Amino acid sequence: RASISGHTQVVVILAHPVGHIRTPAAMNAHFAAAGQDAVIVPMHVQPDDLAAVVDGLRRLRNLGGIIVTVPHKETIAALCDDLTDQARLVGAVNAIRVQPDGRLLGGQFDGEGFCAGLVAAGHAIRGRRIWMAGAGGAAAGIAFALLRQGAGALAIHNRGAARAEVLVARLRHAFPGREIAAAGADPADHDIVVNATSLGLHPGDALPVDCTRMTPGMLAAEVVMQPEVTPFLRAAAAIGCATHPGLPMLTEQVPILARFVTARDWAAG
Ligand code: NDP
Repeated sequence: RASISGHTQVVVILAHPVGHIRTPAAMNAHFAAAGQDAVIVPMHVQPDDLAAVVDGLRRLRNLGGIIVTVPHKETIAALCDDLTDQARLVGAVNAIRVQPDGRLLGGQFDGEGFCAGLVAAGHAIRGRRIWMAGAGGAAAGIAFALLRQGAGALAIHNRGAARAEVLVARLRHAFPGREIAAAGADPADHDIVVNATSLGLHPGDALPVDCTRMTPGMLAAEVVMQPEVTPFLRAAAAIGCATHPGLPMLTEQVPILARFVTARDWAAG
């Protein structure tokens, strides 16, 4: 970027730990490409300090918005004044817009980013039968977004089965009459198999799904960004499945997040 001045919109991203996060580089590149006088700065915030930090941010007059990542996404929802429908459904916030009256509006775009990544790569969602591993924050956002975008069926498998049951109950309540179920590790008879767990981040992690039950023609989609080719994607490719990596979930989400926090014409919907 050319320069930062007193007119620059300052966006912060709150995280703990902070060293590994990739959103600042992607979002600053987005601001520069768009010619937007805005900058995003990483802020390392311990969980116990989150409420005090948000209170302090409310007093900054040039705050362009707040991006939120691990482990603050759920806690910060309770510190917002208003929530978008998606944030209320998911129970988590990953972007905060400062409204003209100063009230903080929390939004949740992980699922939208994931779906936008699939669509940008040419993969349809409407009518597709989807099997997903995971029931944490990312998985919840993805599940609500997939159903909102017309997924034909959604089966959810999680290590902690009770967490999957709770998510399934919330999804059924939000989407009555749709085919939504808790599932075992077998993804047979589905079109898209999603890893929405953190398995694959660390060397030696188990596979998130029984890959021996995957068949050519299925699409294997990942949320883990590093490594770029996870053991799950490698196993799926060896079977003959198409694969979709974790990075597009971030890259497609960046312009959505930037617009939500900084655009003056954004309207709650
Ligand atoms: P959470 O901590 O909320 O959830 C973690 C999920 O992974 C849970 O379903 C958990 O199961 C499961 N899990 C963790 N360890 C194991 C294990 N050893 N065996 C089986 N299951 C396991 O994290 P998030 O949902 O916020 O994040 C999940 C992943 O998504 C992370 O890798 C994160 O980096 C990635 N992510 C990627 C984004 C992108 O843009 N590409 C955006 C946001 C997140 P259980 O409930 O049983 O503990």
